This record gives sequence, structure tokens and C-alpha cells, in this order.
Amino acid sequence: MKHTVYILGSGQDGGLPQVGSRMAPDMAARLDPLAVRLGPSICVLAEDGRCLLIDVSPDIREQENRLLRIPVYAARPAGNPFEGVVLTHAHMGHYAGLVHFGREAANTRSLPLWCTARMAAFLRTQAPWEQLVSLGNISLMPLEQPFEPWPGLRLRAIPVPHRGEYTDTVGISINDKLLYVPDIDNWSAWPAAREEVSRHEVCLLDATFFSPEELPGRNLREISHPFITDTLAFFGDLAATRRIILTHFNHSNPVCNPGSAQARRVVAAGFEPAQEMTALAL
Ligand SMILES: [Zn+2]
Ligand SMILES: [Zn+2]
Repeated sequence: MKHTVYILGSGQDGGLPQVGSRMAPDMAARLDPLAVRLGPSICVLAEDGRCLLIDVSPDIREQENRLLRIPVYAARPAGNPFEGVVLTHAHMGHYAGLVHFGREAANTRSLPLWCTARMAAFLRTQAPWEQLVSLGNISLMPLEQPFEPWPGLRLRAIPVPHRGEYTDTVGISINDKLLYVPDIDNWSAWPAAREEVSRHEVCLLDATFFSPEELPGRNLREISHPFITDTLAFFGDLAATRRIILTHFNHSNPVCNPGSAQARRVVAAGFEPAQEMTALAL
């Protein structure tokens, strides 16, 4: 069975444009659909149309619209829009789209949802999510051990350090080929960072901010993301022998604009800025 990973959203949790912002990139994105960055999410699509969603962003409606342009996905029978869902953590960009699976909307039936024990406890006890559980819209499944949503697709969750008010956070390894780490406090706080990146052919990594210049007046110790300038140094030697795709861009990140000097610096260093609906064969 062949599988393809699609980048459904390359924005940080709030996307681009971000609600309430009057910054120039946000104003430009309101006029140019190609400049829009959707909430952070990827999916794995099998050649027979089965689809696993990894994180459910608030932009899930538009992301499904775009998936429906892929014939094998569009040919799916009516019913649950995915065979399953995996959640990395409980920051709003990564799970709040679950509201669309409830009885007011898709009303999914026993949709398998893999998440950590802390995330499961959060969903089971907090409104409005607990209703998804009690009404049988979702079926909570553990992801502490590697699991196969269907034969030929194997996922392994990797705990990573990240600001955790409600839940812990994981990165996801898919078939030991693709690594997805959309959120992490910083690379040096994760002892396995270089080992995990080394063992994957394609890595999608947290690139929320380019540099501290985007955050005037903010205490850098409160920023729970690495800067791209650090990421280029930390993984620079590994970028020559694998695809390292930067994603989860904050609306302030100059790399959102492919013509910027910062975006050109990323490409010159051998890294790729993520784009919506980029297809990655597994
Ligand atoms: Zn995030
Ligand atoms: Zn987060």
C-alpha cells in the first residue's frame, strides 16, 4: 500500500491571517489566498483513499475542501471523513477543530482518536470535548506504544518538551520515514533531537519564529519554540542528506513570504519552507 503525506496547514495555531492582527502580512493574506497559512495539520492518505489526520486545526473545513480535490480522497464513501485522528497536544491549533466532529456538524461515529493518557483525560473531562466521548463521536485510543491504523502504516509517538498547561506533547514518526514535530520548546531540551532527525528521510519541524527580532519586548524565556536561526545551526549538517521542511510559521515570521531574504536564507541552507498541500511520498 502506497501512502502520501499532505501538509494541510503550515501556520502556527492562529494561522495567517491571524484574527485581530493589522500587521502587513495579515492584511496582504486577506487579499491573496496564496499567502494564507492554515492551522497546523498533516494527513496520511493511502492509495485506496483511507486517510489518517494528524492534529485537527480550526481550519479543518477548508483543509477538507482541499483534500476533496484529490480524486482518491473524493471517492471515499459518505461517513467519517477520516479513518482516524492523532493528536499531538492540546494547544488550540492542534485539536480545537474537533468541534466539527460533534453532533452539530459531522457527527462522526466511533472515530478512532489516538492521543496520550493526559490528552485522553483532558478530552474525557472537559466540555465541550467530553460530549464527543460520551456520545460516541470519537473512540479514545492510546498512543504510548507504536500502533498501526491499518496494515502498512505504522506510527510512533515521541514525547517532546513543550509548554504543557493541559497535556503533554508528542512528535510523530510515520513508517520510520517521516518525522513531524510541529511544537517543541527548543532542540537542545530534547536529547534525542539529532538522533531522531537522522533516522528519518523527511522531517517537518517547528519553525514558529525566525528570530527574536519578531518579538520586541517579549521575554525570550517565555517563548516555547526554537528560532529558525537556531534550527539552521542545530540541524544544518543533516539537511544535506534528508529533506528538512520548516513548518508551523507564526504570522510574524518573514519566511512566510517566499521572496523575503529570510526565506532565501532558509533555502540556501538546504532547508525547505512548508507549503499547503505539498505531497510527500512515503
Ligand atoms: Zn502549535
Ligand atoms: Zn503548542
